[in-house]
Amino acid sequence: MPGSFAIGRIGGIRIEINASWIIILVLLTVSLATSWFPSTIPGLSFGAYIALGFIASLLLFVSVLLHELAHSLVARAKGLPVSSITLFIFGGVSNLTQEPRTAGEEFQLTIVGPVVSLIIGALALIAAAGLPGLRAVDAILGYLGFTNILLGVFNLIPGFPLDGGRVLRSIIWGATGNLRAATRAATVVGQIVAYLFILFGILQVFAGNFFGGIWIGFIGWFLLQAAQSANTQSALQSVFGGVTVAQAMQPPSVSVEANRTLAQLVYDVLLPSGARTVPVTQLGRFAGIISLADIRHYPREQWDQLTVGQTMTPAAQLRAVQPGQNLNDALPLMVGHERDILPVVGPDDQLVGVLSRDAIVHLIEVRRGLNIPHPTRGNDQQLPRAS
Ligand SMILES: [Zn+2]
Repeated sequence: MPGSFAIGRIGGIRIEINASWIIILVLLTVSLATSWFPSTIPGLSFGAYIALGFIASLLLFVSVLLHELAHSLVARAKGLPVSSITLFIFGGVSNLTQEPRTAGEEFQLTIVGPVVSLIIGALALIAAAGLPGLRAVDAILGYLGFTNILLGVFNLIPGFPLDGGRVLRSIIWGATGNLRAATRAATVVGQIVAYLFILFGILQVFAGNFFGGIWIGFIGWFLLQAAQSANTQSALQSVFGGVTVAQAMQPPSVSVEANRTLAQLVYDVLLPSGARTVPVTQLGRFAGIISLADIRHYPREQWDQLTVGQTMTPAAQLRAVQPGQNLNDALPLMVGHERDILPVVGPDDQLVGVLSRDAIVHLIEVRRGLNIPHPTRGNDQQLPRAS
């Protein structure tokens, strides 16, 4: 996740905090110091309330971390590598480098998170009721008990990307053996849940609860984005199941040597071919890519002096793909770039082909037209995981 920094490691798993989490720490501390603590233990100073709010917020952070550690440790025990855990504005994410291979694995590693939250919540409430301790300790325990139970219950809502959505998916997957249909069902429920959150948030705003309503609506929007992208991703991946980059790429029809001038590039290569992006070679090796966007920065008078090598995007700054790679891995690299091609580079840095958006769209049409069934193999979908 961009904007995240590591704070340490637990059992080899990197623990990261996203900058957005700092915002929620401040908001939560202030909110607890001005509402929860003054109402449960009246008569303290503002400084004392801030200190209590900060301690309670940090302990809530530890609770979310324990929830994520539960997911990650069970995943690792099943042989699925976990790179990191990131805490961000809406909770935590466990970053598995490989998705569960069976419905049973997915069910077990998912259900354990909400179960841990519910256990922490129950223990905190029992401790708050049973210990004749300080009022401040009781107030913190009461808060943690309430929020952890809320966290556990919220995450069990059966809509993707929440844990409950993954539980639902694993149950349908296990019962039918159809991962695609299971993902579809869980993401549809996820979108319904998201719309309900947004609707409830709007109603809250009209009812006068402005910040609470905005916050609930914001969570709904986040859930909606995640559910929709998971559904699109899953649909695309089922189209391209088992397709390699080599099957989708085309041989590089045009390329340009790095020592050519921009004028030569424009008049000898771009205009005759109609290409907007061209791979650049230097002594037979792939050196970079140059596109209309790169050239547009320079006035026409400079086109005779500047070389392609000086103005291209060099290979070191590009993500190239290999011919044997799965096409699913290449797709995310093509999203959101002005460049419409991706270089395919073989061993020895030789340019062996280009992957273009047009070629991928063509491939989708051909496969749809021929109704090619996608191989029902394991689960290689990297879908977002919230909390
Ligand atoms: Zn979770």
